[in-house]
Amino acid sequence: MPGIYIHIPYCRKACHYCDFHFSTTLSSKAQMIGAMKKEIEMQKNFFEDTHQKALINSIYFGGGTPSLLQIEELKDLMDTLHQYFQIDQHAEITLEANPDDLNPFKLQELLEASINRLSIGVQSFYQPHLKEMNRAHDVSMALKSIEDARRIGFSNISVDLIYGIPDQSNAMWTENLDMVFKLDIPHLSCYSLTVEPGTALAHFIRKGSRKDVDEEMAASHFHMLMKQAAENGYEQYEISNFCKNGMYSKHNSNYWKAEKFLGIGPSAHSFNGLYRQSNVSNNQQYIKSISEGKLPHTIENLTENEKYNEYLMVSLRTIWGCSFQYVEKNFGTKVLLDLEKSAQRFLQMGLIHINQGNVVLTTKGKLLADYVSRELFRTD
Ligand code: SF4
Repeated sequence: MPGIYIHIPYCRKACHYCDFHFSTTLSSKAQMIGAMKKEIEMQKNFFEDTHQKALINSIYFGGGTPSLLQIEELKDLMDTLHQYFQIDQHAEITLEANPDDLNPFKLQELLEASINRLSIGVQSFYQPHLKEMNRAHDVSMALKSIEDARRIGFSNISVDLIYGIPDQSNAMWTENLDMVFKLDIPHLSCYSLTVEPGTALAHFIRKGSRKDVDEEMAASHFHMLMKQAAENGYEQYEISNFCKNGMYSKHNSNYWKAEKFLGIGPSAHSFNGLYRQSNVSNNQQYIKSISEGKLPHTIENLTENEKYNEYLMVSLRTIWGCSFQYVEKNFGTKVLLDLEKSAQRFLQMGLIHINQGNVVLTTKGKLLADYVSRELFRTD
């Protein structure tokens, strides 16, 4: 079943490592919500060109910082989604939230606005690292937001953490993970710090005021993460995502299983099985275009090889792996036979195994996921 992503392009502060699309000037927020509502209406037939409303099983408010929205703005967007789409009664409705935006009153309002999953941007439980990354919250806010969310009634909570931060010792990384395990948080997303061009972090490193990322240290943290998460009962269902008791993120699982999704808002991407479309990454241009009745996107028609390579890359990152049956059904028998043949080399290297007709990365293979995908890509 398809999902909808809503990009809220505003943040309180610019984190030094971030290259997502956002603005720290909130003056256009009301106009932006109006434009997004209009875009939802304009895209109502994105999944199917019929008079029936498409059935949706996940909504994801990402950003940027969606927890900056006033509750009325959030409800307004939800009402518009209900007006043009059929939202499954068990739909997962996630809101990315920063700890500094969450208090018991706001959390109660979010529950009442039908948000049933919170993805909290903790990033670190070590105060100097939060400061170094220019995060707007501190450790005590992070702990309190998790405690409050639980108390108010959120059971589906995910926490984001960053590893591979220069000067982050193995012991510091273990302390971060131990905090998640101690708090018994059901879902964990962990990302290696990457230095994206154009970010403040890239500038500081170039000027020599910050150390560069140490790839070996990051690989060691990733190893520790896999081992310690497994020891504490977490399933690594995607390279960077871990959960307990089958609490997979429905929304992200949809992406990884090549399901269709619609992205609303500046910089959001969509995929309808045939082509990909990307909205302009500029708030003013987005608002202007929508006000003129034009969708502000570019369409990229994918070649068969591009569709195949994308499926391979994302599916290999998951516990379910790349399905032979899916490959044959969607790309043909020749592509399947080629894949079976090329996969032999990685089987012998111990980087993949075949599990019930699916190519799945081994623990060793997860460290080399990008390499394995690239080698299996079709380029002819
Ligand atoms: S809050 Fe999130 S989106 Fe905003 S700057 Fe920080 S990392 Fe980027």
